[in-house]
Amino acid sequence: MAQVRVPDIGDFTDVPVIEILVEVGQEVAAEDPLVVLESDKATMELPSPGPGVIESLHVTVGDKLSEGDLVLTLGGAGDGAGPPATAEAPAAPPTPVAAPPVSASDRAEVHAEVLVLGSGPGGYAAAFRAADLGKDVVLVERYASLGGVCLNVGCIPSKALLHVAKVLGEAAELPGVRFGAPELDVGAIRTWKEGIVGKLTGGLAAMAKQRKVRVVHGTGRFTGPHELDVDGTAVSFDQAIVAAGSRAVRLPGIPHDDPRVMDSTGALEIADVPARLLVIGGGIIGLEMATVYDALGSAVTVVELADQLIPGCDRDLVAPLAKRIGGRYAAIHLETTVTSLEARDDGMHATLSSGETEVFDRVLVAVGRAPNGGDLGLEAAGVAVDERGFVAVDERRRTNVAHISAIGDVVRGPMLAHKASHEGHVAAEVIAGEDVVFDPRGIPNVAYTDPEVAWVGLTETDAAADGTPYERAAFPWSASGRGLAVGGATGMTKLLVDPDSRRVLGAGVVGPGAGELVAEVGLALELGADAQDVALTIHAHPTLSETVGLAAAVADGTITDLPNKAARR
Ligand code: FAD
Repeated sequence: MAQVRVPDIGDFTDVPVIEILVEVGQEVAAEDPLVVLESDKATMELPSPGPGVIESLHVTVGDKLSEGDLVLTLGGAGDGAGPPATAEAPAAPPTPVAAPPVSASDRAEVHAEVLVLGSGPGGYAAAFRAADLGKDVVLVERYASLGGVCLNVGCIPSKALLHVAKVLGEAAELPGVRFGAPELDVGAIRTWKEGIVGKLTGGLAAMAKQRKVRVVHGTGRFTGPHELDVDGTAVSFDQAIVAAGSRAVRLPGIPHDDPRVMDSTGALEIADVPARLLVIGGGIIGLEMATVYDALGSAVTVVELADQLIPGCDRDLVAPLAKRIGGRYAAIHLETTVTSLEARDDGMHATLSSGETEVFDRVLVAVGRAPNGGDLGLEAAGVAVDERGFVAVDERRRTNVAHISAIGDVVRGPMLAHKASHEGHVAAEVIAGEDVVFDPRGIPNVAYTDPEVAWVGLTETDAAADGTPYERAAFPWSASGRGLAVGGATGMTKLLVDPDSRRVLGAGVVGPGAGELVAEVGLALELGADAQDVALTIHAHPTLSETVGLAAAVADGTITDLPNKAARR
């Protein structure tokens, strides 16, 4: 029997156990990982000193360990293969995994069957899928935390804050109930939000370990068709997937270095709640952050270059949102630009193209995102990158260099996490030899504003632009009991239907939970359903999802929840 103790782990003491990978009675081979320790600098696995059977465990998750502490006892191998570990054998040195950047000299050169550059929703999905398909994968990420923009400074923290905004709004607007003015502890909100992000990113690190995906932290740059330099370490690869994402666009003439000027990452930090906030850009990201700051108490002004909020979205879907925030915010300026922004002691002085000058305490610049394709040295690998920084790919997500694929925000298409992750799966499966393509019938878009706005598949805006024939069938939530009860009287669910085949072509929803509701239509699109299929699908009453079925009944002419002119005779 051998006692496995914590070996010399450098300067670390009291390192918490974050995962136990074995159980009593389990057979292990030499070098099999036993437990995972995580310090503030590194995550390390304690490998088994030899083959054997776990006889007893002496630690649990959360215990803090230092050199020499007893971890477990190991008995002789059940199958007799190899000698049992010797008594008091120290575990082999811990293997650093998912650690923050390590200096190049500390690392050996690395070879990967599949290299994935970038650990966002595209990159980690691709890396994990490739590993699940039997590939030896290296995932390169410049930041200590996995998960990319989405998990760290995008989808997840914004939705956490939007939940706070939603509860505040619902409490304030609940008929017949008065809670009094809310007391906000911005620090506690921030900590809670960071806790959610930490759970998810920590989960990714654990899943990478579990799949034996090797994570190399550092900034990657291609140096040849089969080689990437990661801060001085050469990583060679057979195949690569570029998933390096995008960054916030900066506007010329804006003093971006002034701490009062934020991009979405700065806005998500909620350093404070400014009395007067200017949001430059009335797209989804700008409006979501406006929703948060408005709920927390800022007077919000939005400036948008286009003639509507959420440019590109159907106007009838935006209208209820524009009406609600038009009545709440300090101002919404459409067809307007900020011609100058001057940093002065008393605030940020913004001059608008209308000639008005206003003073703000903080300014959020949310005018779009640019792909990172131009920063990766892809030319050394022979990969074509366009003038905007997008990498060109075919339907299998392969670039012009057959063994290098690209996915997510770095390739054209909507810059959305779920698009990136689906592309990631396709790229990994193609590398593994599967005959698949990325060819979705619809990719849902959701603005998590109040009310939410969501659409999938064909939009009326696109149909008008390219002449696609369609019929529009809309069900107003003013006729939905559930819609009225949840404060969604201005909501609407519409389907666009092919006039000949009656197939569902797309949907748009505005109202609470719109983002959840378009999922059903996404499935209908993928299945090639027609309006009658959806109308005959029994939806629970009273639900918001019922409005999808009722919009389909409008298309089908069988609606009885609206005046009969909408019904088929
Ligand atoms: P990213 O998530 O950008 O990840 C790329 C990774 O590559 C990053 O971790 C980066 O550090 C790393 N990287 C880049 N270059 C290098 C290099 N040279 N070396 C090493 N590593 C490198 N999408 C949604 O679908 N729903 C939402 O609700 C949503 N909300 C959002 C809210 C905000 C505020 C923002 C900014 C974005 C939001 N998005 C949302 C968009 C979503 O975050 C992106 O579409 C998604 O993250 C793209 O995934 P990706 O894997 O392509 O790239």
